[in-house]
Amino acid sequence: MDSIPFNKPYMTGRELSYIAQAHAHRHLSGDGIFTKKCHAWLGARSGAHMALLTHSCTAALEMAAILAEIKPGDEVIMPSYTFVSTANAFVLRGGVPVFVDIRPDTLNIDETMIEEAITSRTKAIVPVHYAGVACEMDVIMDIAKRHNLLVIEDAAQGIMSTYKGRPLGAIGHLGAYSFHETKNITAGEGGAMLVNDERFAERAEIIREKGTNRSQFFRGQVDKYTWVDIGSSYLTGEVIAAFLWAQMEEAEAITEKRLAIWKHYHDALAPLEAAGMLRRPIIPDGCRHNAHMYYIRLESLEKRNELIDRLSERGVNTVFHYVPLHSSPAGRKYGKCGGSMHVTDQVSSCLLRLPLFVEMHKGDVDKIVGEIERWVR
Ligand SMILES: *Cc1c(COP(=O)(O)O)cnc(C)c1O
Repeated sequence: MDSIPFNKPYMTGRELSYIAQAHAHRHLSGDGIFTKKCHAWLGARSGAHMALLTHSCTAALEMAAILAEIKPGDEVIMPSYTFVSTANAFVLRGGVPVFVDIRPDTLNIDETMIEEAITSRTKAIVPVHYAGVACEMDVIMDIAKRHNLLVIEDAAQGIMSTYKGRPLGAIGHLGAYSFHETKNITAGEGGAMLVNDERFAERAEIIREKGTNRSQFFRGQVDKYTWVDIGSSYLTGEVIAAFLWAQMEEAEAITEKRLAIWKHYHDALAPLEAAGMLRRPIIPDGCRHNAHMYYIRLESLEKRNELIDRLSERGVNTVFHYVPLHSSPAGRKYGKCGGSMHVTDQVSSCLLRLPLFVEMHKGDVDKIVGEIERWVR
């Protein structure tokens, strides 16, 4: 059979004409008309007080760490089962990631284990919505309120998903999205920060503009623009924003198509789960997801690796993740565990991500499931 890539970024067809428009406007740096369209779309969809495009989700998380005033030794609670940037953004400020185990169903931070990881140094909780499926946000927000902590949502994978009707990224004090090529809505490299608590809005703009009050100056709120705070260059250029705008316009259709493929996998794999051969993802009531990924969980590391090899021989490219941060060289150096990492260790060695992209056909899914069935027998 023809080989099936793990991912193939989807193009809506309008990306190049919007880039040509940006080119014709001769406004190529940040915050031009395409960035403004993206901001308005993000604001309207999420209900966030302010939405700001950044050059990556990593950048948005770094902005969040500055806004949270993370100082050396301050602790930030997060899962170990996540991408590097969740932790690295805080380590750059001298913060200490405190890793908490994940739930065996959603693979999101186990909210029942957060409180025992809180100390007098804890400043923030960073829930990561794995696979675009929401963390138990009501419980997390309640813990944060009682302990006076900030909640920064790593919603890198969560655009278009909701928790009890509320968009992911818009529930915590701050939220971060990714538009990396591997995410549902893409700009190649790109991201956004959602400022949900308006206390942070003015400073967020300044941090994003190299620590200057340039945004206020352009709005005529101040008569000169100058260096007023720490910051960095976190904007996206207009070429990227133009590309991203083409994707945002199609976000609903992209999500529908991904959900159809996801559901096809889910139905086709049900008999193998019933036979005890593998486990499928679990979507709790109240969570509407965005089909960011389809994964299966095997019985052991050996079986998982055997299946990766088998599928690869048949031209199907699959990947696993994550190497848990608590067991990575930098995670051991800069972070610490806030309790047992039992589920994290188990899940990371047994999970396999299957191909999922917009232009995939149901026939591709049938072939992949057919190969898995033959391997099982
Ligand atoms: C993709 C991802 C990031 C990083 O996003 P970039 O836009 O590449 O910086 C951070 N956290 C999680 C959970 C991710 O999946």
